[in-house]
Amino acid sequence: MKSETDSRSALSIAQRQFDAAADALGLDDSMRSVLREVKRELVVHFPVEMDDDSFHVFTGFRVQHNIARGPAKGGLRFHPAMTLDDARALAMYMTWKSAVVDLPFGGAKGGVICDPKVLSESELERLTRRFTTEISLIVGPDRDIPAPDLGTSPQVMAWIMDTLSMHAGYSVPASVTGKPIAIGGSEGRFTAPGRGLAILTVEAMRDRGLDPVGATVAVQGFGKVGSVSARLLGAAGMKVVAVSDSAGGIYREDGLDLVALRALKEEGGRLIDYGGADRISNAELLVLDVDVLVPAAVEAQITADNASQVRAHVVAEGANAPMSPEADAILNQRQALILPDILVNAGGVVVSYFEWVQDLQAYFWATGEVNARLKEVMMRSYQNVRSRAEHRRVPLRDAAYEIAIEKVAEATRVRGIYP
Ligand code: NAD
Repeated sequence: MKSETDSRSALSIAQRQFDAAADALGLDDSMRSVLREVKRELVVHFPVEMDDDSFHVFTGFRVQHNIARGPAKGGLRFHPAMTLDDARALAMYMTWKSAVVDLPFGGAKGGVICDPKVLSESELERLTRRFTTEISLIVGPDRDIPAPDLGTSPQVMAWIMDTLSMHAGYSVPASVTGKPIAIGGSEGRFTAPGRGLAILTVEAMRDRGLDPVGATVAVQGFGKVGSVSARLLGAAGMKVVAVSDSAGGIYREDGLDLVALRALKEEGGRLIDYGGADRISNAELLVLDVDVLVPAAVEAQITADNASQVRAHVVAEGANAPMSPEADAILNQRQALILPDILVNAGGVVVSYFEWVQDLQAYFWATGEVNARLKEVMMRSYQNVRSRAEHRRVPLRDAAYEIAIEKVAEATRVRGIYP
């Protein structure tokens, strides 16, 4: 497990990013001390019956960073390298993300230390249902609403919704988002993070005088965020030349057949088994000579070690925290256009918010309406961030953090400290 006190730990990085924005805003020490710590964290150790009749004890987390602006909101991650420290940092990012796109939510994150790829379907279901029961102490439609993240799927969300509903004795669709449509999921939720990313990448490139049409793209991670980002950037006229998953990547100078690659993944295949392209490593993908790089896998992929070799002019952060602050500084010095995670991948939480609203009203919107409203929120948020960045002469990330922290600080201030 990663060290909990390491200065390079996810939480330490998130706090340093917060500190820099707090300095720029001149936030007083009392407010800083409230906002730089998480509000509530639950660690659970729970047994799951495996298919061979043995029991295995798993560890899971749910962390709520801040709920000043509304119920906590954030994903659940099933990953072998998940730590409490990651959950704390990612919960903090969720608070800022919800605020920068102006949703009435706070931030949360959670997950289970496990490798879903080695669990059978029934083991995964038992793990999900038992974990849901353990965290039911603090989640619910008015309190904290989980969603999918790395290693979790609409099916996992369905089991969570069903488990919480069984406990309540009636159906509670608004208790979780990213569900299948059949049980109150929203049209457009699955594609939302990638759709939002593609919309803002095209817009920001035009603002910078860069032509998106014909621009070359490399995407790290070919899951819910990466595969849709690749498809929609391709649909916007870009040429996706490289993609990867955890096993490695592939490269084709003339562009990749994304439909065939999606089909390969849906059948459980690895991208490196695709015949029509050259194999590359994930490390090689990040430093390819492309116009646009989309890290859409895990944290800390671009660091001080490889940032100076990154050749892309545009980096759109599909993943949360894919870049260390040191790497961010190196790329900013080179005048790269960095679209920060809390803004550019916020499409997921925006449509999660739409799903929650639809569930609460029991009134559902058509795909076109969801996508149009998503675009409106993403564009408005981007314009706010861009104006602030221009006005203050700072990078988009600094401007996004300042806007977000200002809103959360204001909500905390007007509510006051209880009692
Ligand atoms: P996913 O599980 O659907 O896909 C993850 C992809 O990354 C897979 O292709 C996997 O093989 C690959 N991968 C995993 N570890 C890797 C590694 N070490 N190197 C290279 N590739 C690796 O997950 P997702 O939901 O697409 O999430 C990806 C990232 O986007 C995460 O950082 C997540 O927090 C963030 N995110 C997700 C959402 C969402 O709604 N799903 C929204 C915003 C941000």
